[in-house]
Amino acid sequence: MTIHIDEKICKGCGLCVYYCPQNVLCMSNVRNTKGYYLVAVCNSNKCKVCHTCEINCPDLALYVEEDDKVKG
Ligand code: SF4
Ligand code: SF4
Repeated sequence: MTIHIDEKICKGCGLCVYYCPQNVLCMSNVRNTKGYYLVAVCNSNKCKVCHTCEINCPDLALYVEEDDKVKG
């Protein structure tokens, strides 16, 4: 599982942090070029790949990619 955050698009609104049921995401103290504080992944091992964060981001700034499943 990989959480991709587009640092150019994220505006630090914190909605993904608020809605994640697993407390995977958190706000960082890093700003993007627009001056917004960026969201960060703080507990990646807790992620259930539910996509709630994606659905609640108003700017489509992040998405969660599942690991490739081994076939056979
Ligand atoms: S996919 Fe679900 S558990 Fe994982 S970070 Fe997003 S909201 Fe949290
Ligand atoms: S909801 Fe989207 S814009 Fe808001 S902090 Fe999360 S990734 Fe950034």
